[in-house]
Amino acid sequence: LDDLRLSARSLLDYSESLLNPTIRLGVTGLSRAGKTVFITALVHGFLRGGRFPVFESLSSGRIARARLEPQPDDGIPRFAYEAHLSTLIEKRLWPQSTTDISELRLAIDYQRENGAMRTLTLDIVDYPGEWLLDLPLLHKSYEQWSAESLALSRQAPRAALARPWHDHLESLAPVAPENELAAQAAAKLFTEYLQACRHEQFAMSLLPPGRFLMPGALANSPALTFAPLDLPAGGTPPAGSLWAMMRRRYESYKDIVVRPFFRDHFARLDRQIVLVDALAAFNAGPEALRDLEGALEGILECFNTGRRTLLSMMFRPRIDRILFAATKADHLHHVSHDRLEAILRKMVERAASRAEFAGAATDVVALAAVRATREASVQHHGETLPSIIGTPMQGEVSGKETFDGETEVATFPGDLPLSPEALFSEGTFKGSGSAHPGEADYRFLRFRPPRLDAAQGEPALPHIRLDRALQFLIGDKLQ
Ligand code: GDP
Repeated sequence: LDDLRLSARSLLDYSESLLNPTIRLGVTGLSRAGKTVFITALVHGFLRGGRFPVFESLSSGRIARARLEPQPDDGIPRFAYEAHLSTLIEKRLWPQSTTDISELRLAIDYQRENGAMRTLTLDIVDYPGEWLLDLPLLHKSYEQWSAESLALSRQAPRAALARPWHDHLESLAPVAPENELAAQAAAKLFTEYLQACRHEQFAMSLLPPGRFLMPGALANSPALTFAPLDLPAGGTPPAGSLWAMMRRRYESYKDIVVRPFFRDHFARLDRQIVLVDALAAFNAGPEALRDLEGALEGILECFNTGRRTLLSMMFRPRIDRILFAATKADHLHHVSHDRLEAILRKMVERAASRAEFAGAATDVVALAAVRATREASVQHHGETLPSIIGTPMQGEVSGKETFDGETEVATFPGDLPLSPEALFSEGTFKGSGSAHPGEADYRFLRFRPPRLDAAQGEPALPHIRLDRALQFLIGDKLQ
């Protein structure tokens, strides 16, 4: 039935795109990776006409006009573009992050290279990366998932964070009669462990099930009230046991959450950008990097058509281009942008080779959808230091200084190592974000969005390499 529904949907999508060329662009990434900011900047770039030299159709003047249109799916929230833009430009604050799926339709009138006028419809679909990382659950049994989750939670730095949950787990007998309160306590402690892993100090990426972190309307429903159990190898759960209860709910989670997401959203995408807050992982250290690589592998598995996985047998994803983007590159001096790209490229390559990935074309870019900093060379003790200048958010702290949200400061981001290997072996990337050279501060300052000069009408948003991302994602469809 699922397959039938999916085929009917695909046929509808297809007939619509014959009349009117349409691309469904998926924008994903874990929470705070930069999805909301990316989409807002992209749409503004089209509507206002951004400075996008590498995005050929726009820079050569072939795009005549872009406008927002009503989206095709009535059951999905609309991406709150206008509200996000006004927060960004007028309040100089970052917009509210993604917590659910949303959609926005952009119609782009352009001239083909042969002179003919056409309209390309771009449907942008914003969804949490946590949901994407749920797809591998579709071909895992409860027992498999339990064993994997437990093994992962026994590694550093997760083990320390998992202690309260592990303690509770020891008190549970999987074959004992089912017990609602025990299931609730286990789910709560397991969720708290997942949340702790997400903390910026650890910045772990691999944390299914995704709705445990972003429950939406399903909070407290039985489909979200389960957790892994320490199970004997092999065997089946006795009827009426806690084990049977957990297993049933895990299957419900797949039926109620994962399959509909796959069928109604994921399987209908044509292009995909995966945003990655690689800098947060660098700051947290080598375990976070390894974890991120594991998540990239999981993501590539979802798009894999090379190996016959259960997923690819159910449906061949129609996505033919995937871009991995390291966001917030404006936290680094430009000498490090290529290095950031090289590091992410290495991670994607290794993940792709482990996943035996084949199918869509992939590329990697380091970008800042909204550039919040400028660059300058600052003299310090007779040395010239490449620095970045920005306005730290109100309440940000560096050393003994707490910022008021108005004062600009020059900071000295550390250089990323030339070779990606150095980062993996040495671990943490040091020296970022300190307002004082020589004073170690291991995290990035968060800057306010840039002050724009509105003297000549509505200002364009400054960015780093957003145009390159667009060229890869949709440039070929605008030829
Ligand atoms: P989402 O959860 O993926 O939707 O993430 P957001 O788009 O809300 O971004 C999360 C936070 O990252 C924002 O509040 C900003 O602080 C920061 N951020 C995102 N994009 C950029 C960028 O291009 N430059 C800078 N400096 N910060 C960014």
